[in-house]
Amino acid sequence: MTDQVNFGDELVSPEEKTRRVGQVFSSVARRYDVMNDLMSGGMHRLWKDRFVGRVKPRPGEDILDMAGGTGDVAFRMARRGARVTVADINADMLEVGKERARRQGLSNLSWQVENAERLSFADARFDAYTIVFGIRNVTDIPAALREAHRVLKRGGRFFCMEFSSSDWPGFSNLYDAYSSNVIPKVGKWVADDEESYRYLVESIRRFPRPGAFKAMVSEAGFVRAAAEPMLGGLVTIHSGWKI
Ligand code: SAM
Repeated sequence: MTDQVNFGDELVSPEEKTRRVGQVFSSVARRYDVMNDLMSGGMHRLWKDRFVGRVKPRPGEDILDMAGGTGDVAFRMARRGARVTVADINADMLEVGKERARRQGLSNLSWQVENAERLSFADARFDAYTIVFGIRNVTDIPAALREAHRVLKRGGRFFCMEFSSSDWPGFSNLYDAYSSNVIPKVGKWVADDEESYRYLVESIRRFPRPGAFKAMVSEAGFVRAAAEPMLGGLVTIHSGWKI
């Protein structure tokens, strides 16, 4: 029997998890950007600015923005002159992104449907690999990290931003109450989709703590793995280098 994995708080087969994650993002794609603003009070824009500041994209670099969705992070890196490949398992999210890129007149982007666990790119193809609020949705995270390492050039950098449970007493209770009560309700009112937003909250809670994720980044072969907490640990920027 195949090992079961968590889809939010439910145990399902790995194939079923990947299928259901696909359903969640197809279902939220059209409302994804407005919901991000509502759920984070606009904070996700600041987090993404800070993240791209850490990546330091340079003109002419090739960057893979994995689980790039509707392009928020890719657009910021393309504006700094990098050539960005936006890859995501979900074609609906990418379609919304392509439309936004057209409206914003951004051209140094390419779009590709890809599963982070099995990339179609050649070895040593990219200068940097980014994945923002994506990796917690991936069924086999160690496989995705190994693929990130494979497609990077020597000297290439890995950057990941993900939610993390807060350790601040008081704040973590407040955040738990907010996320489990408010976010699914906002999802229901705005997108008529309480279940998808309940999954998003549960997947945040189940994601490994920063120290444990940092160890996974090292195990995939990256050196100088680091975890930089932001905002009381609500969001963490992880990084590592390929040598
Ligand atoms: N990075 C974007 C951002 O920050 O706005 C999108 C983040 S969104 C919360 C998560 C994305 O991960 C979705 O677009 C989803 O389709 C994608 N995803 C989930 N599992 C994936 C996988 N196995 N491979 C590639 N993308 C995946």
